[in-house]
Amino acid sequence: MLFSDVTGHTDAKAMLRNYVDSGRIPHAIMLSGVAGLGKLRLAMAFSQYLHCTNRQNGDSCGVCPSCLQHKAFNFPDMIYVYPVVKKALSRDYAEEWKNYLAENPFNPFREWGPAIEAGNTSPIIYVTEADEIVRLTSLSTYSADKRVILLWLPEKLQPAAANKLLKVLEEPFENTVFLLVSNEPQQVLPTILSRTQRIELKRIDEEEVTGWLEKRFGTDPFLACEAARLSEGIPGKAMEIVLHDAEKSEFTALFQKMMRIAYSRVGADLKVVSEEIAAMGRQKTTRYFDYCQGQLRENLIYNLHRAELNLMSADEETFSAKFAPFIHLGNVTPMSEELSRASADIMRNANAKVVCFDLMLKLSMLIRTPRAK
Ligand SMILES: [Zn+2]
Repeated sequence: MLFSDVTGHTDAKAMLRNYVDSGRIPHAIMLSGVAGLGKLRLAMAFSQYLHCTNRQNGDSCGVCPSCLQHKAFNFPDMIYVYPVVKKALSRDYAEEWKNYLAENPFNPFREWGPAIEAGNTSPIIYVTEADEIVRLTSLSTYSADKRVILLWLPEKLQPAAANKLLKVLEEPFENTVFLLVSNEPQQVLPTILSRTQRIELKRIDEEEVTGWLEKRFGTDPFLACEAARLSEGIPGKAMEIVLHDAEKSEFTALFQKMMRIAYSRVGADLKVVSEEIAAMGRQKTTRYFDYCQGQLRENLIYNLHRAELNLMSADEETFSAKFAPFIHLGNVTPMSEELSRASADIMRNANAKVVCFDLMLKLSMLIRTPRAK
């Protein structure tokens, strides 16, 4: 992650850059601010800048061995700590963490639980993790002068873990920089807060968010401007608004295609569409299956011819005029169940192509279930 990959935050970037350039890096830094501002991205950009061996114009070079290792999440002196479940350590979820950061650049916490199959358990940072951090601080670094321990969401530290961490924050280590990233600093132990150099990130100028949406997602200027306004200067929120809009149209088209193919039962087409669905990635595929379940319900209701009960867009409704008769009490529940099962399997890391193809086969049977007389 380069500083130039992070939208806005000019002042914070200058401050972080200056720490490195001047060689005066506080031993504990906390980036705080509401979710969706890009704090974690900025923390990653700072860490890479610190380790880059060929800094240029106030940014990392992006191509030196350190930069490449940062990009691949395997720079040995870069330690990520984040909330997990089952009393595990962060490193037990390294693969999930990497995928999670790749899927949504603004890393909403609500998507982290599902990404590690937390079920109803809210991920936290266990005391065993704090022990691990303490142990780490006593070791020398691999190759860098300073190791970075980037701790995402200190507000999720177990109290005992927070107390242990406090001890290492009290006595600075020559070779370790703690970088804390918090959405809710008011929930962090005050004694921890007081030992960190706080950088509070501000909301981003609406015009800057608009420009970023247009450039990054090719959003049309009107929607970009509207999303920036509604997001109140939070790029993560603006991105969700834009993507939700684009995703909804994409899902509508895909659902119609999927149902036509399920009905036609042409093997080659079943395979192609299942691969198209699988290629969306775990998170998006499961959102799509949620959408499909919603559409099945809508189509069942459509058969009642009570327009006021339906929540469909014009496009969805045009399709339903022909499609709804195929959805009835005899197949709506089994079809929904197959979609739920496919979601769960995909979240469990099953092979998505296989799951989606199997799903298409089942749907192609169920869609032809005769309506009960
Ligand atoms: Zn570099």
